[in-house]
Amino acid sequence: MNGSGAQVRGVQQVRDPQDVLVRARGLQVHFPVRSTGLRRRRTGAVRAVDGVDLDVRRGEVLGLVGESGCGKSTLGNALLRLVEPTGGSVEFDGTDVTALDRRALRALRRRAVMVFQDPYASLDPRLTVGQTIAEPLQVHGLHPGAAARAARVAQLLELVGVDPAAASRYPHEFSGGQRQRVGIARALAGEPDFVVCDEAIASLDVSVQAQVLNLLRSLQRRLGLTLLFVSHDLAAVRHLSDRIAVMYLGRVVEVADAAELSRSPQHPYTQALLSAVPLPSPELERARERIVLTGDVPSAARVPSGCRFRTRCRHAFAPCPEVDPALQDVGGGHTAACHLHGVVGLEDPRAVRT
Ligand code: SF4
Repeated sequence: MNGSGAQVRGVQQVRDPQDVLVRARGLQVHFPVRSTGLRRRRTGAVRAVDGVDLDVRRGEVLGLVGESGCGKSTLGNALLRLVEPTGGSVEFDGTDVTALDRRALRALRRRAVMVFQDPYASLDPRLTVGQTIAEPLQVHGLHPGAAARAARVAQLLELVGVDPAAASRYPHEFSGGQRQRVGIARALAGEPDFVVCDEAIASLDVSVQAQVLNLLRSLQRRLGLTLLFVSHDLAAVRHLSDRIAVMYLGRVVEVADAAELSRSPQHPYTQALLSAVPLPSPELERARERIVLTGDVPSAARVPSGCRFRTRCRHAFAPCPEVDPALQDVGGGHTAACHLHGVVGLEDPRAVRT
């Protein structure tokens, strides 16, 4: 990949755990469920995001992983206020995002951006890729004048490994991987601090997924970006992330450094997810225990009482249906929401069976 030195704002190798760029506390996004018929009364709520506490540290890649429908994309959208939270708070660089007026929200839209899953759907087919990338420059009043904008577009295309001469072409003339590179260039046009990548490689061929992952990592380092990488693919999340947050049914249930999470997962859900990631050696693959989760993920409109994972947890015991476990430190900043870590004298959570 080629790129311009003018783009580089400094590589941040040392991340201070206290230097939090995005902070969510008790964040909720509930969607109303209404009855059918004329009166359409509210009958309940889909609790897509249901009391999430999460810190994204400045300059890190935080992976957010969970099964499809667990609320991770809604959470990513709520952090950027692309969907309105129904409760709790989000701070971006110390400012309460939920209280921003239109003008301040527009400034946030420059500093905090989204890379979407489907690059074809997110690019306007009637615009050339040059026009697509130039759009945010115009919206935010950056690089005024046609010549300066064209130069910036060329710089951005080069940055993501696309020939700048392709600026005059249309999205349908590109491969899926190239289109996603264009989507990334557009997202970076306003020199953001925070990028949410929402299943950004899910719609790509396996052969190009690694290339786009490597591009994201390289850009994150070169530009000093803070990245939230949202994916159902734990192998991809592990490859890219400094830390990983695991989400289940609207709630973050475990957060740890990526290596620590792989070595010592503490939540039974994380243990099951990890046991499904293929190992490189066939011998290791044969030897390891595969934890198969039984049952479906419950509906987010009918979240189980107590621990929401209890209907699928092989370790569930007496307190689990009664008490909702909070995220607690299990050592060295590694947090997990499971009662097994609150039981005195219980060293190994897997020792308890029902
Ligand atoms: Fe399983 Fe209980 Fe821990 Fe929930 S709190 S993960 S049900 S052991």
